[in-house]
Amino acid sequence: MALLCALPRAGVAELVDAADSKSAGGNTLGVQVPLPVPLNWDPMLPPMKYCSSCGETLNREIPGDDNRERWVCNHCDTIHYQNPIIVVGCVAEKDGKILLCKRAIEPRHGFWTVPAGFMELGESLAEGAARETLEEACADIEIGHLFASVDVISAGQVHLFFTGTLAGAYGVGEESLETRLFSEDEIPWDDLAFPSGRFALQKFFEDQGRNNGVHTFEWRK
Ligand SMILES: [Zn+2]
Repeated sequence: MALLCALPRAGVAELVDAADSKSAGGNTLGVQVPLPVPLNWDPMLPPMKYCSSCGETLNREIPGDDNRERWVCNHCDTIHYQNPIIVVGCVAEKDGKILLCKRAIEPRHGFWTVPAGFMELGESLAEGAARETLEEACADIEIGHLFASVDVISAGQVHLFFTGTLAGAYGVGEESLETRLFSEDEIPWDDLAFPSGRFALQKFFEDQGRNNGVHTFEWRK
């Protein structure tokens, strides 16, 4: 367990003497480590009540050699870690226009979005972005480069966006009500589903086809 890389950014750290507080942030090296104030359960995280390994009731506690509260099963000693989820998407272009989907599902039913969704196990970021575009817009795309990263802190997600080129036709996937190509001045900015997609579209147009690296944004509700 990497102690230092997962600490909260500010306001919750204090130094403790590791030798006196093994169960509260200490380690066996005898060094001081920043200790975050134990987190009360964050309502944005999915609650966990029972152990998925043995079915017993879980407890909220700080495991030994860790520094924050986790869902812990004291019956089979499984620690159920919860970490941010990756969402991948693609700003796909054809003849200077961008492919958007009108959402047929909640949240934000009826609002427009770039094709994006949860990354699956066994695929790369780029493969996930291409798959989501195929699923939501029935479109085969050639993935370009990663250009936008949005930390959606309160939702426990990271949204990553690629450029892409629409190779052929497109259609309406099961999660979409409608799909269509928009020029920059046609983008329905007031009817976009999520700030992360808005950020990606803004940076896409600012880049004007150049690879200017990855633009970053922290979305805190
Ligand atoms: Zn268990």
